[in-house]
Amino acid sequence: MEWVVSFPQWRKDQTDKDDFESSEASLLGNYILCCGGKVKTAADPTNLARMIGVGLIIITPAVLFYIFDSNWYWEKSPAIVILFAYTWLLALGNFLLAAFTDPGTVPRNIHLSRDESGNSPPEYYNVIRLPGARKDGVFSPSEEESESNAQPRYPIEIKYCTTCHIWRPPRTSHCGTCDSCISVHDHHCVWLNNCVGVHNYGFFLRFLAFSILCCSWLIVLGFLRMAQDGGATKRPISLLLGIYGSLGILYPLLLLAFHMVIIWQGITTREYLHLTKEHQLSMKDVFRIWKFNPHNVSPIKNFAIQTNRQRVKRSRPPSNNTKT
Ligand SMILES: [Zn+2]
Ligand SMILES: [Zn+2]
Repeated sequence: MEWVVSFPQWRKDQTDKDDFESSEASLLGNYILCCGGKVKTAADPTNLARMIGVGLIIITPAVLFYIFDSNWYWEKSPAIVILFAYTWLLALGNFLLAAFTDPGTVPRNIHLSRDESGNSPPEYYNVIRLPGARKDGVFSPSEEESESNAQPRYPIEIKYCTTCHIWRPPRTSHCGTCDSCISVHDHHCVWLNNCVGVHNYGFFLRFLAFSILCCSWLIVLGFLRMAQDGGATKRPISLLLGIYGSLGILYPLLLLAFHMVIIWQGITTREYLHLTKEHQLSMKDVFRIWKFNPHNVSPIKNFAIQTNRQRVKRSRPPSNNTKT
């Protein structure tokens, strides 16, 4: 394995980017921030409008249900109305958390290294390759392999970000829309107007799951009332809610199914696209991408790791008034 690969051309190409100014604006990325930075969304008007549209798509059927159908179901059983409200609130809450939570922005570097010429050191334009899993996908760092029978390992690449001026941690990549490096970057979601990364991937998955549950409720409740209480002509809103749920369930269902496939293999959407392109894999290879994944452990552990990434608690500076 070549541990370090030099790309001198990169340095030439990126020289213009080295005019880095440590102004506050350049440090914050392309975000709109409020509540002291606890709430953030990308400063992208088109995607911001899409995100508001998704919010309205979530809110509208619940409003229609509670105006037109909830009384009828409340008389049948209050539990139905309460359970629908609970599912809907979880879908909306996880949507808001996925959209406005910091996805895992890696802070930019403001202490730049310069060589004698005032440019970034040439080694910053190298790609460092660390050993990953073996070719058969089994990670065994303690196993001794002789040169003769060693199998190629798929490497973990470490690159320098010429925009954020940091060495990106593994699985981190730069999002052009957010103008920031995102840890365990899955993708930039135009419907959330936010990246999906280490801190909000769980919210994103739960949003999809509860959206599917919510749509299932709409299908059942809409068509049930229509069938039992006068038909489509007498209950057009119930019919509308049934159709709304039937159409609305398709996209989150397909998206969640795709994410289940890649979660068990321990890869992100970005890595999926990269690996399929690099190894020229087709759709029928979708279940064996784990073999090329340097982060692969086992299906169960992959699932646990991908779905249970913890939010990093922000440490507070020690108070001067603290008495010991
Ligand atoms: Zn970056
Ligand atoms: Zn982004």
